[in-house]
Amino acid sequence: MRRIITTLFFFFVFISCGRSFTSKERDVIFQDGGDVMQVMSIANRSDSLLLRSRCLPVTEQMVKTNEFSELRRRMLATVQSPEHDGVGIAAPQVGILRQIVAVQRFDKDGAPFEFFINPKIKTCMGAKQLGGEGCLSVPNRRGEVERFQKIVLQYRDAEFTPHLDTIEGFTAVIFQHEIDHLRGVLYIDKEQN
Ligand code: ZN
Repeated sequence: MRRIITTLFFFFVFISCGRSFTSKERDVIFQDGGDVMQVMSIANRSDSLLLRSRCLPVTEQMVKTNEFSELRRRMLATVQSPEHDGVGIAAPQVGILRQIVAVQRFDKDGAPFEFFINPKIKTCMGAKQLGGEGCLSVPNRRGEVERFQKIVLQYRDAEFTPHLDTIEGFTAVIFQHEIDHLRGVLYIDKEQN
């Protein structure tokens, strides 16, 4: 009986760990208490290992936490800060190995930044086109990458509601770049010489 109880205890500890942010993730999210987060750079060895890792999915329980709200606020502040001035950012770039990206929606009025949870590209359509890309984690560099011009994106919003969207043009390119980050892929891996 004691063995069963012990097994059940560790089972529930294991389950609950997977559903919430870890204490290490919490430390990163609340680090310095400011707005702009430190962006991981391939120029740094430990950052580079992190940038090459696969991200875990976000759970419904996680999106209801203060950690999630703070991560969302700080990722948006980071990508829009004058020093970065990016069009997209993925959670691993700020040291959080979770499937979260923020993308500037150039396909919408006012080009707002939006937040996407567990995003997946379900379908790529049309021919690939070559275009210029840069990355906050690859400083002082730009390259040419071939990307699809139309994608079908599956994701969840900040309320964890599921969506399926067809996205075209430059915004579709940003999504492909950011979603690559979630499996440790950088644009330099796909660069055309
Ligand atoms: Zn990037």
